[in-house]
Amino acid sequence: MLRISDDLKLNKNFNDSIDDFILAASIKSLKPYKVMDDDLMYSKLLSGDVHFHLEELIAKELSDWVEINSKNNTAVRSDNSHLSEDELKGLLFEIKPVVDNFLDIKCNYCPKIDYHNGYTGFIPTKNITNTVSFVSFIAAFLTPAIYDLMPPQVLDSLTQKIPEIFVYTSTMLLGGYGILSLSNKILRKIPVSTEKKYVYDHLQDKVLCLQDPKNILASSIGHEYDHAISHQIFKKEYLTDKQSFFEGHARGVERFIGQSYAKVMNNRQYESSYNNTAIEEFSQVYYNISQNLNLPTSKVDNLFEIFFGEKANILIADCKESTSLKHAIGHVFFRINEEKHGLNLYAKSLRSGFEF
Ligand SMILES: [Zn+2]
Repeated sequence: MLRISDDLKLNKNFNDSIDDFILAASIKSLKPYKVMDDDLMYSKLLSGDVHFHLEELIAKELSDWVEINSKNNTAVRSDNSHLSEDELKGLLFEIKPVVDNFLDIKCNYCPKIDYHNGYTGFIPTKNITNTVSFVSFIAAFLTPAIYDLMPPQVLDSLTQKIPEIFVYTSTMLLGGYGILSLSNKILRKIPVSTEKKYVYDHLQDKVLCLQDPKNILASSIGHEYDHAISHQIFKKEYLTDKQSFFEGHARGVERFIGQSYAKVMNNRQYESSYNNTAIEEFSQVYYNISQNLNLPTSKVDNLFEIFFGEKANILIADCKESTSLKHAIGHVFFRINEEKHGLNLYAKSLRSGFEF
């Protein structure tokens, strides 16, 4: 009998033709290259063709939304169980080979994974800064006490060599640094509600997750693991302002993992997280480019009315108001380019020299 990861791997080309462009490569052999920047990617979406494409994609995701949320899917098959920390690690180990296979890479690399209650965005204090901050924190408080304890003759000869003001200033500066570092460390642990539910923190090399049920976790872990892989391959390029490229890439992996689990587990709820995001992000880009190109929006307006009734106007207004479109732009760009390259797009676009 096949293990689940074998079952999942077999899914790779379930709706795609095999393309011999790709050879499984080790992660180190993949050379980073200059990926398309956010502005260029957005400018490539400003066309009537994309507008038309988005109408079709939004209609498709909305009909999927009905199926995914239909009673006979949710009532019988919902998997709302929460995973322990060990089970969470197990899930990442299950997803990793499936994503590696999808991207045609071979690597032993795997990031860490943990739950979090909110991401503060503070730079993590590493071991060295922890030690320095602890020592300086203690020193700042102990110096005056040590001075008090010293016999006057010793103190006099000492302060002749090192001026007292210098000692106090430097311990205060060190102490200040210590307090700042420690407070960063403490603040990181305070739960802060954040828009970012799932994060790949490259400074800790760790995927941070919320305690969602497994059917939400799986595709989201796929997305964050893809960021970890991209960071390994692209290094500095990953950190520059090319968010749309990396988010679009990760959305593709997220969708693939959701679909693969849905098929193997016979439960379309594994697709629900991606599906909700797709409806939202495709509509955001649709209304944005409609406005920019002065194109009618009646088709999607009508779809929203049919599917969401009274709520349609509020949802449409939300889409129109959204200002941060970088994730959405990358998502639409990759999804539309799947038509040209198939699902191999995600493996190809990690290889240097690739052009859309
Ligand atoms: Zn992301």
